[in-house]
Amino acid sequence: MNNTLQIEIDPLLCAEQGRIFEGQINTKEMPRVADELGESSSDIKVILEFSRRNKIIVVMGRISGNLMLQCAACLEAIDFPIDINLNLAIVKDDSLTTILPEGLDPKVVEDGRLMLSDVVEDELVLALPDIARHDKCPIELRKVSASTDFVEEVNVKVNPFKVLEGFKKD
Ligand SMILES: [Zn+2]
Repeated sequence: MNNTLQIEIDPLLCAEQGRIFEGQINTKEMPRVADELGESSSDIKVILEFSRRNKIIVVMGRISGNLMLQCAACLEAIDFPIDINLNLAIVKDDSLTTILPEGLDPKVVEDGRLMLSDVVEDELVLALPDIARHDKCPIELRKVSASTDFVEEVNVKVNPFKVLEGFKKD
């Protein structure tokens, strides 16, 4: 049992040995997602299980944890729990992805070396929204009052128009 996922493995060897990797990874260790995630994101729990299905190297696993995103609208934190089940097939290049059995997603490994944290990072990139937003922001009340101000301003602008129309008729 390994506790770190910052290791490079040989997927074929691991599949033949039926290796299982279980560990945790901090989001700071994943540069492609670290910037989008808040400091208080918990460590991500990961289980990766290597096996062979005929000639295909299969990685099954689970990635779970609680991420913190920043809302694009109110800039407050958003809880973003993740619980991802993955079923990957290790392929040498993109051309092989079309012949995969259903239910397996391709993971291209060109040089026979796979960084375990990279598998986790791939899944997080897919799971994160392009723009994080609350369904309902906690500071919605403030927004309502701001839009009321706006409406009042429009009313003020309409009034001089009516006055102007009055001048034309005269
Ligand atoms: Zn918000």
